[in-house]
Amino acid sequence: MAAVHSKEFVKKVLDLRYKDGLSARQITKELGSEFLMVNKREMTKNIVIGIWNRNKYLVDKQDIIKEQVKALENIVIVKPLHIERKKIKQEHFRKRKCLSCRKEMLLEKNLYICEPCKKSENYKFSTTQHTYHTGGA
Ligand SMILES: [Zn+2]
Repeated sequence: MAAVHSKEFVKKVLDLRYKDGLSARQITKELGSEFLMVNKREMTKNIVIGIWNRNKYLVDKQDIIKEQVKALENIVIVKPLHIERKKIKQEHFRKRKCLSCRKEMLLEKNLYICEPCKKSENYKFSTTQHTYHTGGA
């Protein structure tokens, strides 16, 4: 049996959700003691979500739209950032053989020596190894 909540209580839950943007968990903290006094049991996240779902028709349509827009914005913002990061990574790294140890590595665009080699001070770096002969010369 679902508990019957007073109109005032339902309105408080909906206002916290749609006007103040609180999460279900935050609302249980906010209204938990009041709920416990009336219903003699703990207020859980599921109870909050149940109240939202059953009483959404009471919420101002504008508030619901605002919330949906906010949720959409979050998705739109997160996605391009992720793609952007991936692109940067690919553009700035090249798979090439380190000129010192000859191991194939993912190296930054303008680097020809891998990190481990650079750290050891006496790596054998020959500038002649990456000059290219142009045809015909
Ligand atoms: Zn190396």
